[in-house]
Amino acid sequence: MSPKDQTPILSATHVKAAAAAAGFTACGIAPAQPLSRERQSERTAALRLGHYADMTYLERHEEKRIDPRELVEKARTVISVAWPFPPRPANAPPIATYALVPDYHDTLKAALQGMAQQILGETLTGSRCFVDTAPVDERYWAWRAGIGFIGRSGMLIIPRMGSRFFLGEIITPALSDAYDAPLTPDISSHRLCGTCHRCQEACPGGALTADGLDARRCLSYFTIEHRGPLPPETAGWMHASPGTPLFYGCDRCTEVCPYNRGGLQETAVSSMPYARYATAGCDATFWKALTLEQYRELFRGSAVKRAKYEGLMRNIRAFYGDDDSMT
Ligand code: SF4
Ligand code: SF4
Repeated sequence: MSPKDQTPILSATHVKAAAAAAGFTACGIAPAQPLSRERQSERTAALRLGHYADMTYLERHEEKRIDPRELVEKARTVISVAWPFPPRPANAPPIATYALVPDYHDTLKAALQGMAQQILGETLTGSRCFVDTAPVDERYWAWRAGIGFIGRSGMLIIPRMGSRFFLGEIITPALSDAYDAPLTPDISSHRLCGTCHRCQEACPGGALTADGLDARRCLSYFTIEHRGPLPPETAGWMHASPGTPLFYGCDRCTEVCPYNRGGLQETAVSSMPYARYATAGCDATFWKALTLEQYRELFRGSAVKRAKYEGLMRNIRAFYGDDDSMT
């Protein structure tokens, strides 16, 4: 066998140093194996119960989602990384905190590709980087790679740092000289939440059920992913207490989580789009009259574009009390 045919072996220490240098707050390494039986059962139950609402993309390519080796040929290793975003600034517009920074699909992907190049070098071919754009169960891999645990909110929580993170993965045929162990024995163990149920209590639609997140009751789902009119109750959810009233997304389960107290206060992530809102002087009058041209300029390079102009205006009308946006 020629040296070229040999499976590269990564140094876990080098991988983690490269992740830190690229701006990732956490990095873990897991063997590329099928999802645990427990996670597969959770997915089956979510499908059966209709928890994905009309996000049919979550139902496609199930074989790839279950087994990373179906996604990346000869995959042996999944490297999971977490990219922080800053807490909500004062006087921010009524938009979810994660969407106040440049679109993570672009920024995180660029950082991840740079990291992959550095750790894999000439053996990069055959490896792939993922940022919320393929059938990869990102929270599962972050849990499996020992980065954090899954809270009752369904979010990945990193002890002492909280849950304000975007996730990404490098899936590679390379091996690692060391692999990380999960922080909890199984993914649905909420042991590290203790007796806390604050996210469930704060959720205005009761989306955080004992069987996981039911998108059909989640304000984030309706204001970001859902197409068509909003159900009438969502206008009340937007203004529900506790929580910051928002017309794009819903930060409540993040805001109330004690793990986010004293979490990361500073990150390397630019707040450039937020500065743009401040310059535009956005208030109720501005939002209600937002034109397509203003929308394109304001949300250039922003994740808010996911809702599209029509969806955002629908949300704004519901938020400011125009009933035409509701079913
Ligand atoms: S984002 Fe809001 S509506 Fe959705 S689960 Fe969290 S608290 Fe509930
Ligand atoms: S709010 Fe409490 S229950 Fe919910 S994820 Fe955070 S620690 Fe867990």
